[in-house]
Amino acid sequence: MNRVHLDHNATTPLRPEARAEFLRAVDALGGNPSSVHASGRAARAELDDARERIAAALGVEGEELVFTSGGTEANNTALFGALPPGRPLYISAVEHSSVREVAEALQKEGRDVTILPVDPEGRLDVPATKAALEGRKSGLLSVMGANNELGTVSPFGELRAVLEALPPDSRPLWHADCVQMLGKLPLAPRELSLDLASFSAHKVGGPLGVGVLWCSKTTALSPRLYGGGQESGLRSGTENLPAIAAAAVAIELAVQEQAAYTAKTSSLAKQFWGEIQEALPAARLLGPPIESTERLPNTLCVLLPKADGRVLVPRLDLEGLEVSAGSACSSGSIEPSPVLMALGHNEADARAALRLSLGRETSAADLQIAIKVLRTTCG
Ligand code: PLP
Repeated sequence: MNRVHLDHNATTPLRPEARAEFLRAVDALGGNPSSVHASGRAARAELDDARERIAAALGVEGEELVFTSGGTEANNTALFGALPPGRPLYISAVEHSSVREVAEALQKEGRDVTILPVDPEGRLDVPATKAALEGRKSGLLSVMGANNELGTVSPFGELRAVLEALPPDSRPLWHADCVQMLGKLPLAPRELSLDLASFSAHKVGGPLGVGVLWCSKTTALSPRLYGGGQESGLRSGTENLPAIAAAAVAIELAVQEQAAYTAKTSSLAKQFWGEIQEALPAARLLGPPIESTERLPNTLCVLLPKADGRVLVPRLDLEGLEVSAGSACSSGSIEPSPVLMALGHNEADARAALRLSLGRETSAADLQIAIKVLRTTCG
């Protein structure tokens, strides 16, 4: 059976170039980058090189990057570490669980947390955000670059204008979870006037378990992990050097190839959506309309009325089609998507949406197979 993976927002296959770099680094490097002897110094030089390459790809400086275990830890570090004591935290209603659940934990500790509303396509409500920020003491605002389920891209230009118009003592630090945006749309965190941004290597053809937090030099960050003082004291623990070297290759290539990736996946996704509508006339596309440029090019969030992701995802898997529904937790159970619930969908609809996310290697032939499977399984 030809299996088709349309769950690239969950993870992507390791790129051959990243795999080769991982294997080279494993073979070449035996040292701990914090050791002072020759093998340690060789490892340190490689770590510095990977850091500089990622920084150059992101248009930032190497000393502003903190390597973490993934996007989840990068988000946790940003929120716990950059929210000034006693100041408010603002997050959008559709953030990834690694932001949403930090906000819930902080709220339980008595911190002042505001959930900012989104429109029916999942886009941040900018006037409501402006109203929430005005007249308050500056804190930390976390708004994702692009939503992992809906593909909705945040209105960063408008948000930036709102933030810049605020008096300095009301202007919050701005963190963006850019895990899904990297490599899919142009992205320059410093030019956007962000203060912090999170990235994850495995979403762009890099290895699992490597994240990067960019924290601008002027932003104060305190650590969540204490120990040997690695990563300028911001994230103790010996760095996973072979995986970081491989991540650098994947991130560089993702940025270099972004325009080609966007053109290819958006054209395939448009065609695919047309075919889904023919095969399943009741299907509805959630998030921005297909022709919108304010959407991730590779992501289709498709509501199939009366479907139940808990049943459908395993059935599609049996037929060789890998997709996701709702938010898969570590137990593998599928909860109704909190993102769709935040958009006002009821629990049944929040369980009835499939996320189909294309990747760099997805071909028109893969999508023909996918359509056949969808037609026979959901029709
Ligand atoms: N943020 C977003 C938007 C994501 O889609 C994900 C992963 O699904 C994460 C954060 C977490 O990244 P990681 O799997 O590297 O912890």
